[in-house]
Amino acid sequence: MWYCFEVKKYIFILVIVVLSGYAYLQNPYKAIAPSKTKEDIAKEEYAKRVEEEKPYLLGHFSPVNDANFTLVPTAYLTYNTQMYLRKETLEAFIAMQEEASKSGVSLKLASGARNFDHQKRIWENKWDGTTLVDGKDLSKSIPDGVERFLKILEYSAAPSTSRHHWGTDIDINGATPSYFETTEGKKVYDWLTANAMNYGFCQTYDEKGLNRTAGYKEEKWHWSYLPIARGLTQDFKAIIRVEDIKGFKGDEYVEELNLIDNYVLSINPECL
Ligand SMILES: [Zn+2]
Repeated sequence: MWYCFEVKKYIFILVIVVLSGYAYLQNPYKAIAPSKTKEDIAKEEYAKRVEEEKPYLLGHFSPVNDANFTLVPTAYLTYNTQMYLRKETLEAFIAMQEEASKSGVSLKLASGARNFDHQKRIWENKWDGTTLVDGKDLSKSIPDGVERFLKILEYSAAPSTSRHHWGTDIDINGATPSYFETTEGKKVYDWLTANAMNYGFCQTYDEKGLNRTAGYKEEKWHWSYLPIARGLTQDFKAIIRVEDIKGFKGDEYVEELNLIDNYVLSINPECL
């Protein structure tokens, strides 16, 4: 019976050879297709990086589960809440806070990382009147969508356009203009303008005028940790498009209001 086995073996080999030849005839160039160029690989790597970075740039992640973020100890907080920041931002803030305390200036964190969902709650509560703005229910006092959007934008960023979710941006002591009119507030602000840059912090929304014609009103409390935030601002500019900013009430006005140029990128030139 051995010859029967041999015959089967040769038939099997013959079938394989015929099938291989058929496959080659179907696609004769596949076997000699050129390998990827360096340019192709660089393009693929860039596309991969964009896909990975996009959710972070837009705030679609949880700082609680992100290894780059850390929980801020309550000793550094203005209010008794849970707050997360990028580790580097917190380290720089602590160093700055220690130096300020030597001059009798107390610095605490009023706000840190707020992701998309958090910002969406703040935004939509103002949009539908759950949170009153200047004592008013905006859904009734400003029925026009664009006008209402602009009113909320005076002090709140639309979800995905806030820099707070990056974990690089902080509100110091009290996030209201009135606090910075008090004797203590003025002393704090004077100290920050003279020293914060030494620790990497820049006042993101400086006075509106010749240098900054669009965007949010001045926020003396909001500071960006530039060693990380500067690169993220550039990445946002390069990667994020208007259609990426969505998923909240009023998002149909994002394009009309040119939110990226007029708000996200309209910051103190020293912070760029
Ligand atoms: Zn802020």
